Amino acid sequence: MRAIVAILGFALALPAFGAAANSTVAAGPNEIRGRLLQPQSGPVSLDTGSVKIEIKADKDSDMVLHDPRLAPLDIALHGHLIDATHFQLDPFFRKPIYAVKNGKELLVTYYCDVCSIRYYTPGRCVCCQQETRVDLHDEAAEAQGKPAN
Ligand SMILES: [Zn+2]
Repeated sequence: MRAIVAILGFALALPAFGAAANSTVAAGPNEIRGRLLQPQSGPVSLDTGSVKIEIKADKDSDMVLHDPRLAPLDIALHGHLIDATHFQLDPFFRKPIYAVKNGKELLVTYYCDVCSIRYYTPGRCVCCQQETRVDLHDEAAEAQGKPAN
C-alpha cells in the first residue's frame, strides 16, 4: 500500500516539475520575450538574453517575423515551448506577435495612411499599392472602447 501511494505522489509531481523547468528559459511557458534574429533564409529565432529559441510559425506569422523593421523592438510571442530551444507560435488568427513598449503588449499590425486600412501582414496596400507602415496596435484599449493612443 505504501508503495502505491509513493508512485501516485511521483506522478502528480511530474507536471509541476515540467513547468518549473520551462520558467528558467522564458517569461512564462506560454510566452517568450526578446529580440528577433532574422536569417536570410530559414526560421527566425528569439534571443531572450540568456538563450536563443527557434520559432516554429505558420506562413503569415513567418512573414511578420521576417520583417526587418521588427529587429530593434522588444518582441513578445504567444504559443508554447516545445523544448528549451524551440517554441511553437500560436496560429496567426490568434494574434501571437506583439511588441513590448512601457510594459504593454502592442499587436504588430500594418497600416496604410492613404486608405486608412489595417493589415496583419507586411507588404503593399491592396488598394493604393503603397508600402504599409508598421503600426503597433493596443488591442486591449480598443476592446475597452478607448482610443489606441
Ligand atoms: Zn492604400
